[in-house]
Amino acid sequence: MAEANPSRAARNPAGIGMTSQRTRARMVDRLREQGIGDERVLEAMAAVPRHLFVEEALASRAYEDTALPIGFGQTISQPFVVARMIELLMHERPLGRVLEVGTGCGYQAAVLARLALEVYSIERIRELLERARGNLRELRLKNLRLAHGDGAAGMEKAAPFDSVILAAAAPQVPQALLRQLARGGRMILPLRERGADAQRLVLVERSRLGYAETALDPVRFVPLQAGKA
Ligand code: SAH
Repeated sequence: MAEANPSRAARNPAGIGMTSQRTRARMVDRLREQGIGDERVLEAMAAVPRHLFVEEALASRAYEDTALPIGFGQTISQPFVVARMIELLMHERPLGRVLEVGTGCGYQAAVLARLALEVYSIERIRELLERARGNLRELRLKNLRLAHGDGAAGMEKAAPFDSVILAAAAPQVPQALLRQLARGGRMILPLRERGADAQRLVLVERSRLGYAETALDPVRFVPLQAGKA
């Protein structure tokens, strides 16, 4: 672990730190131009050092608006998509208690933790989860809990959640996650479109009457996979 994930001090924080603050501000300007309007989201994205979540060799590309490899065939999500999903979840309501499925490197979890009451994040690949723990340690986010497991089953013991966010694409909305969504709660997830090699963001809103789904932007996420690894 120490090799794959050296401490921040060993990563020349002064050098990368200065540049990253400026490039991060540029990333936020770009997000604004792309249509992200919620200042709270932009502020959180400006505050989380994305370069700490990618390998050193990729750190100089950390603020490009693109997904980047994080090992194990997985990727860190594109900043625009992270901002867009969170903005949709917190439109005219608080994020409240959040469940994230697919911790990956922990980047989105860190952004969420700055905006939500509590965040529970599940990752199925143990080594990635350990890496995320290392990435997140020095940010000292007291309201963030990470767990190793199959996120399609949600987290019964912490349910219900006001907000649920998936970072991996499923063919349909996992039933357990629908059950664990609070009334008045919202879920945002990439869904695979039937019979096509395409995905779309879908917003699910739960009310007293049931669930309402709205299909939104086309996206491209890694697949939601079953079981732990
Ligand atoms: N949230 C990350 C994105 C990680 S990519 C970010 O901030 O960039 C999506 C992650 O979902 C991968 O790490 C993958 O291993 C994980 N994943 C896929 N299926 C899963 C499942 N059923 N339960 C939990 N995690 C899952």
